[in-house]
Amino acid sequence: MNFTNNSTSHSTSKATIELEQQFCANNYNPLPVVLVRGEGVHVWDDRGNRYLDMMSAYSAVSHGHAHPRLVKVLQEQAGTLSVVSRAFYSDRLAPFLERLCGLTGMDVALPMNTGVEAVETAIKAARKWAYDVKGVEADQAEIIVCDGNFHGRTTTVVAFSSEAGYREGFGPFAPGFKRIPYGDAGALEAAITPNTAAFLVEPVQGEGGIIIPPEGYLRTCEELCRKNNVLLICDEIQTGLGRTGAVLASHHEGVRPDGVTLGKALGGGLLPVSAFVARRELMDVFTPGTHGSTFGGNPLAATVALEALDVMVDEKLVERSAELGAYFLEKLQTIKSPLIREVRGRGLFIGVEVDPERISAWSLCERLLSKGILSKDTHETVARFAPPLIITREQVDWSFEQIREVFVEMEEVAKAS
Ligand SMILES: *Cc1c(COP(=O)(O)O)cnc(C)c1O
Repeated sequence: MNFTNNSTSHSTSKATIELEQQFCANNYNPLPVVLVRGEGVHVWDDRGNRYLDMMSAYSAVSHGHAHPRLVKVLQEQAGTLSVVSRAFYSDRLAPFLERLCGLTGMDVALPMNTGVEAVETAIKAARKWAYDVKGVEADQAEIIVCDGNFHGRTTTVVAFSSEAGYREGFGPFAPGFKRIPYGDAGALEAAITPNTAAFLVEPVQGEGGIIIPPEGYLRTCEELCRKNNVLLICDEIQTGLGRTGAVLASHHEGVRPDGVTLGKALGGGLLPVSAFVARRELMDVFTPGTHGSTFGGNPLAATVALEALDVMVDEKLVERSAELGAYFLEKLQTIKSPLIREVRGRGLFIGVEVDPERISAWSLCERLLSKGILSKDTHETVARFAPPLIITREQVDWSFEQIREVFVEMEEVAKAS
């Protein structure tokens, strides 16, 4: 591999980046690399440099890039039937949802496209359940959420974000949400009122910085929800489908939520596919006309998503994530650098928190890029390592060497300055 430290120096990359900056809204701040191809755990830039993808598009690419089985069914189905809307039945939807329910231990599913649509679906289900089943007075339903949450970007969802940058300037906001500290079951107990419809929680906070709550937290929350007739809804859009070493992260504690949101990896890295999966008595609040999506559950998406679930099982991606995640975490924890505050993770969902007084996670990611590793900072202080779950032990070893070297180099730079 032949890297220079500044990938923008190449004129084609520079032109591409400038063109995107001219015509694309400025709502992201990408690392300066122009990707043109992906295969398995690797992607290539426009100069032929190869990178190991430790970002996996925020876990949307858990199956790796261009998985041959997924590309094959995508192509076949695209030439057969892609979109019909749910005004009609299609032969592809039921097999997908049956498999999804079987793997997650849920009764029934509502297919959508992007993650935040699944979250919106969960919110609508919870509120309607509160009025129709629990007997909460009209428009009084409350949903409890956590500090540091990430559930997407619609106006309803950013309304209850604790991140000023996500929220400020986008009001007025929908009422009906109450925020409590994450990882504190006592705070949940104190926040529940007779009007509480649901507790919406991520089993591990991904965008929040790979935050792992105390052992037993989710189980205690489940007990509190049962006791108080409150729904437990887990947002597993990022943690689900093997990322943390279980099909659902809530399974680690033997928890069966009332509803679960899934997305990202559900589309096999090819399409946006999401779903809200739930217990029958919750999902039954929806009747024809109360909710919908033009593209949700379309035959093309359903075909790819079913194959993505089958690949997850056939290639033992969940087991691989558990095993290689533990191995990778243990190795990363051997890096003794004053620049590192903490290394934490579950499965192949690992965060390295740096000391912001010394370096930024952004500069760490820039340096990793020059070593052939794609990563992305979250919350300025955490670099995430969440490769496709198909990664091999040898590739983990290689990645670890690059990361270790980057910390040695950055320590020298930090010392010199
Ligand atoms: C990414 C994410 C979402 C939003 O998904 P989109 O597809 O970007 O709308 C919601 N919740 C969690 C936990 C996520 O990680």
